[in-house]
Amino acid sequence: MKTLRTLAFISLLGASGAFAAGKTCAVDISAGDNMMFDKKEISVGADCTDVEVTLKHTGKLPAAAMGHNWVLAKTSDMAGVVSDGAAATPDHVKAGDARVVAHTKLIGGGETTSVKFSTSALKKGESYSFFCTMPGHSTVMKGAFKVG
Ligand code: ZN
Repeated sequence: MKTLRTLAFISLLGASGAFAAGKTCAVDISAGDNMMFDKKEISVGADCTDVEVTLKHTGKLPAAAMGHNWVLAKTSDMAGVVSDGAAATPDHVKAGDARVVAHTKLIGGGETTSVKFSTSALKKGESYSFFCTMPGHSTVMKGAFKVG
């Protein structure tokens, strides 16, 4: 009996060791035709090497009228990212915008999209925010993004 338990313990160690290289943490967030994210803050563990954010549009309106995306940047860069993205197509994010840490595409009602990014791009002690860059939305569609 003791031998069996030891073997089980060793195989558990082996299984967890296989994932030691990285940990992807999943975050679900949704927004509807009311122009609100269902979260005001997203917090992921310090052990997350990657984060996969899934955005669900729970409304019915098309992207042209009530599009939502999920964009991550330094809080201090938010206003610039939003204004430079106003005229950008198709996602309201300026192509090659280095201030953007990660972003999903712009989606309409009933659609779901996701983005995966590495937390290595985030600086310790920096303030980050997530927001929607559809013109006019970021005044209410925003929140804090925290690691650890
Ligand atoms: Zn929006």
